[in-house]
Amino acid sequence: MKELLERFVRYAEITTTSDVHNDTCPTTECQWNLLRLLESELEELGITDIDLNEQGYLIARLESNMEKEAPVIGLMAHVDTAADVSGTDVKPQIHENYDGKPIVLKGGTVIEPADDKHLGQYKGETIITSDGTTLLGADDKAGVAEIMTAVKYFTENPDVKHGTVEIVFTPDEETGKGMDHFPREKLKSVFCYTLDGGEEGEIDSECFNAYSAEINFEGSVIHLGDARGRLVNAVTMASSFVSMLPQAESPEATDDRFGYYCPLEMKAQLSKAELVVYLRDFELTEVERRIEALKTLASAVEAMYPGGKVSVKENKQYLNMREHMDKVPKGMNYLFQAAEQAGVVTTSEIIRGGTDGARLAEMGIPTPNVFTGGHNYHSKNEWAVLSTMEKSYKTVINLVKLWAGADV
Ligand SMILES: [Zn+2]
Repeated sequence: MKELLERFVRYAEITTTSDVHNDTCPTTECQWNLLRLLESELEELGITDIDLNEQGYLIARLESNMEKEAPVIGLMAHVDTAADVSGTDVKPQIHENYDGKPIVLKGGTVIEPADDKHLGQYKGETIITSDGTTLLGADDKAGVAEIMTAVKYFTENPDVKHGTVEIVFTPDEETGKGMDHFPREKLKSVFCYTLDGGEEGEIDSECFNAYSAEINFEGSVIHLGDARGRLVNAVTMASSFVSMLPQAESPEATDDRFGYYCPLEMKAQLSKAELVVYLRDFELTEVERRIEALKTLASAVEAMYPGGKVSVKENKQYLNMREHMDKVPKGMNYLFQAAEQAGVVTTSEIIRGGTDGARLAEMGIPTPNVFTGGHNYHSKNEWAVLSTMEKSYKTVINLVKLWAGADV
């Protein structure tokens, strides 16, 4: 797949590092270079409905070529790369017919198949890495290239029937702010797929339910010399509260499907204290149980420190996208079918965190995350394997074809 590889290399060479410390959208000017290139490449492919707004969200429409109406679906990827290691001046290296040995790159970077549970299985295949001094940016330019190559396929093969497909490229995914300014009203999709996964076959349709709780402690202050029996110290109250959180339900003591409490931030002085606790679980009922537990602990602290007041206020951050997927069951069914038709063995993974897809699901469009063929993200050891990128591209094509046969 020369086309797919060339596209990927072309996009990877463009610096698009985002910056969490900037409040602009996009957070960095450099992301425009790729966004504008994609805009012009889509134009060249004959796409007429392209909207690149001033905040760097590119939404383009591949119009339906059928008489019958089919559901509109979306394909999404992000153009930025993580700031953890340099993403400037990326020089993709193509290792054809990979010999299965350690890949030695510049600057002492070595990708060891022995330490990497996947690399070894791709002996004889085409592996792409950086030159060792930067990340590669397969996260998520592999996804961008796969979507763009699929669009090209449909524009070059007008006999292949498809419904309307919305192509969505977003900035700043890596900063966690990628969906803050998302122009939701512009999308008509009933279901969307994020091409932003990793290992072949990996499909993520679940993430945490995430709540934060703000706990406020009110003490009662008096001169310390006269404090006996009268001072109610908010610092002591807040630390008692934290020490009562169950250690077995902390991020450092859990994995897989177990959820947790995480005391994240505390500001305290004699008169008042403020504590932020993150609550995470794949089951909403478990989050609700923990909110109740926090309220019980608040009452306990009030009982321990007469005269002190404790209040708990919970805020929803995002929900497990599974709840949204279930509303459009064919969206996941088609995805598994499309990947199988591309020769892929699929696995359903859960994400102990959130995704842009989860945010989009919150906005009413279920959005699972699909593998792209990249590995070791956010590091100089990042690599991608062309055969998986190809399967991801084929999965996208199959998906669009499957949806063309669906009823509105
Ligand atoms: Zn990504």
